[in-house]
Formats: sequence, structure tokens, C-alpha cells
Amino acid sequence: MTCAELVELVTAYLDGELADRERFEAHLAECEGCERYLDQFRTVASVVGDLVPPPPDPGVRDRLLAAFRDWYRT
Ligand SMILES: [Zn+2]
Repeated sequence: MTCAELVELVTAYLDGELADRERFEAHLAECEGCERYLDQFRTVASVVGDLVPPPPDPGVRDRLLAAFRDWYRT
């Protein structure tokens, strides 16, 4: 699994709807950037009180991926 795939699947994972949790968690175990991304996502979800729905358009997804790249760099 790549980092981009993980970002795409994170809502399904947190919803408990991801069939392939093993690959998801295997990537998390070896990728600090994605682990942090998931933490951030969980924090946002808990503040909002519900899971954020999947990004509605490619522009939003690009911003998510750009934010993720920033976290990954630090
Ligand atoms: Zn990753």
C-alpha cells in the first residue's frame, strides 16, 4: 500500500468498513507520516463529532494530500 492509497482509505478504516485492514495497519506500522496523518484525522473527527465524509472533489483531495506531504516532511 502506498501513502496515497492509505489517505484514500482512512475514512473507510475509521468507519470500520475497510475490508483490507491488515494492509492498512501494516503500512501504518512502518510509516510514521501516515501514523501521524491518522492521528490528525482522528482528532478532527472527534472535534467535529463525526467522521468527515470522503472528500467530495479532486481539489479537496489534492489539499489533503498536500497537507499530508507537509506532515511527512517534518
Ligand atoms: Zn505512508
